[in-house]
Amino acid sequence: MHTVFLSLGTNLGDKERNLNDAIAHIQRRIGTVVAKSAFVKTEPWGFVSNNSFLNAAIKVETSLSPMEILRLTQEIELSLGRTVKSVSGEYHDRIIDIDILLYYVDSVIKGDGLHINTPELTIPHPLMNERDFVLVPLKEII
Ligand code: AMP
Repeated sequence: MHTVFLSLGTNLGDKERNLNDAIAHIQRRIGTVVAKSAFVKTEPWGFVSNNSFLNAAIKVETSLSPMEILRLTQEIELSLGRTVKSVSGEYHDRIIDIDILLYYVDSVIKGDGLHINTPELTIPHPLMNERDFVLVPLKEII
């Protein structure tokens, strides 16, 4: 089994429900959710909006590869009603955003884990260290 840390964010609709729905989908399709941070209210980052965010981080035990996880997190985003993807660093209000932060092969939690750099997927997530809304929930469970 491998360990993946995911970041979740939402700033539309019933935010607590969006996070809980996303976690339920992840548990069903990606792996066992072994840790879950508190849900933290944060202000929009990188764009202007009146809608504050609710963010969380989770730790998941999984047999899947990072690319399989990306495909499933994107499917889960769509099934929860997400329509607009971020393109070239342009951000929008969103029902749900799921990012892959860190991935540890064989669940050996050492350093910042597996490094991947492809056009579709960068792990560790390149902006995570600039974002308190990612780091604060992550530090709670790592
Ligand atoms: P999003 O922020 O969800 O709109 O994602 C925009 C794009 O970022 C996706 O299409 C992914 O292919 C890409 N991406 C690159 N690295 C990651 C990562 N670590 N986690 C999630 N998406 C990623």
